[in-house]
Amino acid sequence: MSVLADRFGRVATDLRVSLTDRCNLRCTYCMPEEGLAWMPREQQLTDDEVGRLIRIAVEQLGVTDVRFTGGEPLIRRGLLGIVSAAAALSPRPKLSITTNGIGLERMAGPLLDAGLDRVNVSLDTLSPERFRELTHRDRHADVLKGLAGAAQAGLTPVKINTVLMRGINDDEAPDLLRFALNHGYELRFIEQMPLDAQHQWDRHEMVTAEAILASLEPFGLQPDPVSRGTAPAETWIVPGYRDAAGNPARVGVIGSVTRPFCGDCDRTRLTADGQVRNCLFATDESDLRGLLRAGGSDAEIAAAWQAAMWGKRAGHGIDDPSFLQPARPMSAIGG
Ligand code: SAM
Repeated sequence: MSVLADRFGRVATDLRVSLTDRCNLRCTYCMPEEGLAWMPREQQLTDDEVGRLIRIAVEQLGVTDVRFTGGEPLIRRGLLGIVSAAAALSPRPKLSITTNGIGLERMAGPLLDAGLDRVNVSLDTLSPERFRELTHRDRHADVLKGLAGAAQAGLTPVKINTVLMRGINDDEAPDLLRFALNHGYELRFIEQMPLDAQHQWDRHEMVTAEAILASLEPFGLQPDPVSRGTAPAETWIVPGYRDAAGNPARVGVIGSVTRPFCGDCDRTRLTADGQVRNCLFATDESDLRGLLRAGGSDAEIAAAWQAAMWGKRAGHGIDDPSFLQPARPMSAIGG
């Protein structure tokens, strides 16, 4: 089998598939309140086209993990069909989804039945009021119900993604961790990255991994003996707590900006309009949709995907003075 290798010896086995650039929330660090100019429908890959590209990635290019994201993947109409088509592949990839959790209470069972293995739910605050300010929508209770629904359905371990922002929710790190521990969810704090549509990200305003860990000092976190491998999160054991499976509870910190893990990156990304991105911060893309719609064979598509990955840079370069924020915001790339 061919693989998605690059010039620095990395091999991408983890595919992030964005199923839509649309979202039902307006998180301030991601999108303006009025939304964005959405991708025209005809540019978006159809369910069959997404399925075909995932099949090529898994069966011909060695992809072992597929994560559905967006925008908000739960609002993609064909989601269950896309998940079950991916679950029918051989070798069967591990399947997960990153979602804001709205509608997950209802969708968790059907997603499990379709073949989904796991879920990450984004939650930045325990306060419904703050949630409304942060997302411009009054849906906090729906997210909590979505988390509970995922755990009940068995989409485990249920992970929570949290972005902390200075003066907005950075006082909540211990409470969020306690909430996660008490419910058997695994919390991951993510450093805020320069991927907002408004281009307002400011390095000095970002809550760093170091600051996050300092605020968790009362928990007496212990280094995790399990190797991190290619996972973006550095994890710690939280003494005195167990996860839903009875193992020592963990908390993760994804220091994408201050503790980059590019050297271990095993990601390849497909946007909802069929562009391969070899890095979250890439400024160029490779058009698989054009090739696919022009009648390209599986072998031609696989070769184009390989060429796209070969050009991956050694690092995202956020700290480089020449760093340019990508033209696409996070919602249109797929986080
Ligand atoms: N709508 C889904 C959700 O809310 O999880 C999936 C897409 S969202 C873009 C994926 C993740 O990216 C979320 O956890 C969100 O908090 C995170 N995110 C969005 N913009 C970000 C930024 N500028 N820096 C860091 N994380 C960001």
